[in-house]
Amino acid sequence: MRTSQYFLNTLRDNPADAELISHQLMLKAGLIRKLSSGLYCWLPLGLKILRKVETIVREEMNRIDALELLMPAVQPAELWEESGRWHEYGSELLKLNDRHERKFCFGPTHEEVITHIMRTELQSYKQLPITFYQIQTKFRDEIRPRFGVMRSREFIMKDAYSFHLESTSLEETYEKLYHAYVRIFDRLGLKYRAVIADTGSIGGNQSHEFHVLAEAGEDLIAYCPQSDYAANTEKAEALAQIASKTDHETRQLLDTPSITDMQALAQYLNCEQSKMVKAILLKGKKHPIVMLLLRGDHTLNEIKTSKLDLIHTPVTFADQATIESTFNCPAGYIGPVHVKHVPIIADKDVAVLQNFVCGANQKDKHFKNVNWNEECRYDEVADIRQVVEGDRSPDNQGELVFARGIEVGHIFQLGQKYSQAMNFTVLDKHGKAAIPYMGCYGIGITRIVAAAIEQNHDNHGIIWPPVMAPFQIALIPIGFHKSAQVKQATEKLYQQLLSADIDVILDDRNERPGVMFADMDLIGIPHRIVLGEKNLNNQQVEYKCRSHESSKLLNIEECFDYLIEKLMA
Ligand code: ATP
Ligand code: MG
Repeated sequence: MRTSQYFLNTLRDNPADAELISHQLMLKAGLIRKLSSGLYCWLPLGLKILRKVETIVREEMNRIDALELLMPAVQPAELWEESGRWHEYGSELLKLNDRHERKFCFGPTHEEVITHIMRTELQSYKQLPITFYQIQTKFRDEIRPRFGVMRSREFIMKDAYSFHLESTSLEETYEKLYHAYVRIFDRLGLKYRAVIADTGSIGGNQSHEFHVLAEAGEDLIAYCPQSDYAANTEKAEALAQIASKTDHETRQLLDTPSITDMQALAQYLNCEQSKMVKAILLKGKKHPIVMLLLRGDHTLNEIKTSKLDLIHTPVTFADQATIESTFNCPAGYIGPVHVKHVPIIADKDVAVLQNFVCGANQKDKHFKNVNWNEECRYDEVADIRQVVEGDRSPDNQGELVFARGIEVGHIFQLGQKYSQAMNFTVLDKHGKAAIPYMGCYGIGITRIVAAAIEQNHDNHGIIWPPVMAPFQIALIPIGFHKSAQVKQATEKLYQQLLSADIDVILDDRNERPGVMFADMDLIGIPHRIVLGEKNLNNQQVEYKCRSHESSKLLNIEECFDYLIEKLMA
């Protein structure tokens, strides 16, 4: 491709309304243009990259024998009424009426349609298991579309759906999809993690999200560098510290005038916060108050807490009046000693504490050297805290570290949810009607392009992982329109590369070299060859790799082979 015949619409200045670097660079490099809030046009250069991502996804889906189909973007309301989601899905669902006042929606996802196809098409259980996928446009009326194509309203998703007679078969396919996703993100050359998205239920209903690691990510992920363990910090399991037994000291009542805050108390008593216990008072399901105990240096995880039987959902703090009438003492001095009528839940790390500090249930007083015994007890031990960096990984393979992630994929064992709701049954080998199991598997194709840029850029622009680059090699001739020598050498190399089927872009614009360099760096072409008279007189050209600072001189005769070698690496 020659730039003179291409649509290279790069911008000089940083777009004013783009917060994220990927959004800025996608606009600046001329990959996308905003049409309206959350709606983007993909210009030829951007589309070329998008297609490369699609191709890899398609190849890996085909490799596991998933079958590609294509469903309409617009879906009849009846199907969504059957599944119950017409009302449940909320305002992200864009609803439309046709000229006959029939109700439709613009599909945000396709479980209903694929289940409908299966219930009308499936002839025998022998056709199961089966997996379908499509690469197609979705619409979600996001409350806050932002960051360009990272969270847009219209976007392209690869969505896949699998059907099974038994849950074990669903688990096998889930595993296959998991590994297909690993291959996809490996091939795309991205740093990513498969993150446990729901550990709650026993068997089935498993779910993993795939996150590209990047500072701009909306999610905070805890992972173990020594193993595969990764989970959203909201969901990551906290293991209790291994405590060694120490002698129990005698409990002492201390004066702590007006000190209710853990940090101030730690300073006042010259005691580490990790040896102190704080009481959090929540509304119970059946009790007016439930006391939760956390170490002074830990914070409550509301998602884990909301799953406890005793706790009212949504998680609600007990009000001051109930606290004071229950304990006869202000909130900052509450602790577990001598408490009888309030259920107490201790965090795993609190249950192993010895000789700790806690509130004494008297204004301006705390206890020190408190230990678990008849006078100081808990009813339940639970994991209710937020994990912190340095915690033991739940698989015991190392310590957790945190990173930000962008969710680019999601796999989910749906079970019988949609088959049941939509009356989808199949006769099993005994002739009995069975409700099939289902899995769903999404990849945000358009979001991947933005996520890749978040992870791979510098001050000059994008540094594409080679498989995503719109062109592999940029040829930049200096004086193409003035020097016959430059023109001839450039054309020769260009033709050579084209005949080897290499995606090469020749910058034949009559521009200053600085402009050409800046553009090729901005759009992120991995390899660059500069051809100028001075070097050509010595039979040389200059080579530079986009991701390296320094350039080197190559003999013009060796240049082609050198590039081929680089592309193969
Ligand atoms: P998020 O938590 O980011 O809203 P989601 O849980 O709603 O994502 P899924 O329903 O699992 O997403 O959709 C599958 C994939 O589609 C996501 O992993 C993501 O990569 C992509 N995706 C979802 N919403 C958007 C959006 N508004 N813009 C671009 N891509 C999206
Ligand atoms: Mg969403």
